[in-house]
Amino acid sequence: MFNCAMGVWPIKYLGVPVSGSRLHVKDWLILDEKLLKRLDGWKGSALSIGGRTTLIKTCLSSIPIYCMSMYLIPKTIHKKMDCTRKRFFWQGGGMKKKYHLVKWCKIAKPKQKGGLGIHDLRKMNLSLLCKWWWKVEKGEGLWQEIVRKKYVKQNCSSHLKYKATNSPVWNDLLKVREYYLKGRVMVVGNGKITDFWLDPWCGAAALKDKFPDLYIICNEKFCSVASMAQRGWRLTFRRWLDEEKQNQLRRLQDITTSFALGRERDCPRWIWGKTGRFSVKSMYKHFFSEEANEPNKKIWKTKLPLKIKIFMWLIQQNSILTKDNLLKRGWNGDSKCMFCREDESIIHLFFECSMAKYVWSMVAMVVGGDCRPSSFDQFWYWVKIFMPRAEKFHMVGLAGICWALWKLEILCALKRKR
Ligand SMILES: [Zn+2]
Repeated sequence: MFNCAMGVWPIKYLGVPVSGSRLHVKDWLILDEKLLKRLDGWKGSALSIGGRTTLIKTCLSSIPIYCMSMYLIPKTIHKKMDCTRKRFFWQGGGMKKKYHLVKWCKIAKPKQKGGLGIHDLRKMNLSLLCKWWWKVEKGEGLWQEIVRKKYVKQNCSSHLKYKATNSPVWNDLLKVREYYLKGRVMVVGNGKITDFWLDPWCGAAALKDKFPDLYIICNEKFCSVASMAQRGWRLTFRRWLDEEKQNQLRRLQDITTSFALGRERDCPRWIWGKTGRFSVKSMYKHFFSEEANEPNKKIWKTKLPLKIKIFMWLIQQNSILTKDNLLKRGWNGDSKCMFCREDESIIHLFFECSMAKYVWSMVAMVVGGDCRPSSFDQFWYWVKIFMPRAEKFHMVGLAGICWALWKLEILCALKRKR
């Protein structure tokens, strides 16, 4: 009648796929295709590893951000995008397969945690979606109003349940809720949308965690603070309370009975930021909070070209292609060092080899030292003794010597091949 062509789901709106039903993995393949398309234009193999890292950080990793801030992207697609970024990192745009010397999960950690600071897209996706929870609980606006009317109603966030009839986007938000709830506490006003047991509202921990024994046998498991206040904070239990639990109950009552409700709406507060407000950055950072700190300040704070910094970082991971590392990866060439015919390893190449010893002896002579360092750890003691005042140049010197020795090794290896 209108002379229009029939369309098919999903359609694209402002670059984002939109569908009446759940989007499938195949609908998201466009994300990886976008990355690949961008790679086509780059002369990846002509770039240094530093240049490639910069491009991954500034461009490849930010392409999917817009979609990730609205949808929970399937894990398969995240894996595909990781593969594309990983391949570009190690082998540039070329098809020739190269060794991937460090695990991607290590590279995609913040620098503070020992990685290269490339974004972990899955964790970024979860962090971006958590922001919607903050908006639902805190913000005012049309979207919030619709969501509150349709899904939240007078419920606490922790009570909302997954339903097949919900919109797929809302169900995805329910999947990331657990991450959000870990970082927010409630500032109770009228107590209507704060759960008595599950939400932290008097102190940093939830009452469920403060009094786990009482929570297990309590009859009022899903109760808001407002309704508990209405019944005079009276709890009923499935079993008799022994003396220990009686004491716990008394302690709990001490907390609750002194509490007075206000009139205003309950309000969330974010505990992982200084301002009390949610930020994607703080959420993302928290995903790595349990991992040990490994700041590598000496490498990242020194003024050096990025490719040299990454080279020093790779040495630290024992992951440059010395012959012992090549052998571990199934290579079957001559494992001996080209200068002195001993087994070649990182420590050999940079300190124990006759060529390295020669270079270090010369350096020692210049700085007036009577010995030379024989390992990376020893270097730092050694250099502090002989050049105590030039601390900011120590890393530059070490990187310069290592880079020169490495280039020399590669040059010799290439000559021999010819
Ligand atoms: Zn050697």
